[in-house]
Amino acid sequence: MGISTGEQYIRRINQLKTNIWLDGSRITGNISDHAAFKGVMASQAKLYDLQHQPALKDVMTFVSEESGNRVGMSFLEPKTKEDLEKRRLMIQEWAKSHVGMMGRSPDYMNTILMVLNAAADLFTAEDERCAENIRNYYQYVKEHDLSLTHVFVSPQNNRGKQDGESEQIAARMIRKTEDGIVIHGSRILATQAGVTDEILVYPVPSNIDDEAFSYAFAIPCNTPGLSFICRESFVYKDTHFDHPLGSRYDEMDAIVVFDNVLVPWERVFLHGSPIVKKLLYSQSDMFEHTAHQVVSKNVIKTEFILGMIQLIIDGINISEYQHIREKFSEVAMALEAMRGFLYESERNAKINQWGTMTPDANPLLAAVNYYPGIYPRLIEIIQLMSASGLVAIPSEKDFASDQKDLLNHHLQTACQNGYERVKLFRLAWDLSMSAFGSRQQLYERFFFGDPVRLADQLYSRYDRGDSVSMVKAFLARQ
Ligand SMILES: Cc1cc2nc3c(=O)[nH]c(=O)nc-3n(C[C@H](O)[C@H](O)[C@H](O)COP(=O)(O)OP(=O)(O)OC[C@H]3O[C@@H](n4cnc5c(N)ncnc54)[C@H](O)[C@@H]3O)c2cc1C
Repeated sequence: MGISTGEQYIRRINQLKTNIWLDGSRITGNISDHAAFKGVMASQAKLYDLQHQPALKDVMTFVSEESGNRVGMSFLEPKTKEDLEKRRLMIQEWAKSHVGMMGRSPDYMNTILMVLNAAADLFTAEDERCAENIRNYYQYVKEHDLSLTHVFVSPQNNRGKQDGESEQIAARMIRKTEDGIVIHGSRILATQAGVTDEILVYPVPSNIDDEAFSYAFAIPCNTPGLSFICRESFVYKDTHFDHPLGSRYDEMDAIVVFDNVLVPWERVFLHGSPIVKKLLYSQSDMFEHTAHQVVSKNVIKTEFILGMIQLIIDGINISEYQHIREKFSEVAMALEAMRGFLYESERNAKINQWGTMTPDANPLLAAVNYYPGIYPRLIEIIQLMSASGLVAIPSEKDFASDQKDLLNHHLQTACQNGYERVKLFRLAWDLSMSAFGSRQQLYERFFFGDPVRLADQLYSRYDRGDSVSMVKAFLARQ
């Protein structure tokens, strides 16, 4: 097996017939033909195909020691700083393909599996079999190049109680049987719902010592009893001219409902140990590796935004205004800050207790706290620079109508005809004003966790020993 092609990916997902609901109906037929999913599935298929490009072979893949097959680089457990760089280059190659708009391109979940596999010994504290299950699962996904969604949040029904876990709504382990564990209830929020092979479920990162909520497993998305209830689609139209980002990259989000879902033992990674649940978050270094993926991707996203802003500046010729230059410099500073966080995390990487080369947490903690704040400002800058350009955007059909010449004339700029200019401003609109663009903002604010608790995490974890020592040494001076 080894790396998938895009066609194999699409065929697999179509065959699953996942129980997925959208706007009151269960989706039947090939999901890759459905208006809400076909764009993002085609984009994901392109990612898989990139792995087969001869020129990118050594960037995108490595040879699996276990099978001799070429497998995706995001499965690589880094042992050296060069390995970390290889991972970054691969992540960024995919990110260039989706211009940073797909938060759940498969490298994100592959990174999580890489971490779980590397730290599998953690799980022996509860049950030897769980560590073995994780190792087998990692090999299975790696060698078949499967795609995953994941859920680790309980529904928002009562945040006054810890993560709502004590409510009767949140998915919990209701019993263990000879065949496996049985899960009942719901979880939020599966991004890429319906377009992945499998779903990984792991515990809500809370301090609750309740066995019923201390579980982790992975199952195929078509497992009986499992259903996905989607939000409204943000694909307005499938023309790339009118809706350049939404028509390509709208990763669906869904509530996940488990109706007495049986998880077979070989897919169970954790089944009741609150201690292992806490170790998973405190000892696996999942944060460092996932944050490294996220920041690698967001460097590309910010590069894309900066390029778009420059084209807007050139398009309507506003570069001489001082405040425009100042706003551009804000974007450039954001990009350079993100690059700095990323490279610094690699420069100070160290081998962790599992033998994995692990990026430094300090710059990554800063990055995941910084970006949710700066991203909305980048979007605001697009709006402040573009003004009415964001709504003077006739459609592709207008440009194919009798109005074509008139539109090309009246909407021209110094360097573009009307059609070219509207193409650019439609892109800016899709990132800054459409439902797709709003969701991107919400995503950047929340997908890695609530910003308030992320700041708390930084406060708890940030290594400030050297700074404190410097001040103490100064105070001790005569
Ligand atoms: C677009 C998008 C995609 C996502 N994709 C995924 C995914 O694929 N998989 C997945 O598992 N999750 C996903 N998430 C969920 C994401 O992890 C959560 O949104 C995030 O962890 C915050 O949790 P919440 O949404 O339940 O907000 P809540 O925790 O309910 O927070 C709501 C408000 O209450 C405040 N609050 C609540 N509890 C506390 C507290 N204890 N202390 C201080 N303040 C508190 C928060 O600060 C916030 O202002 C996604 C979210 C979004 C928006």
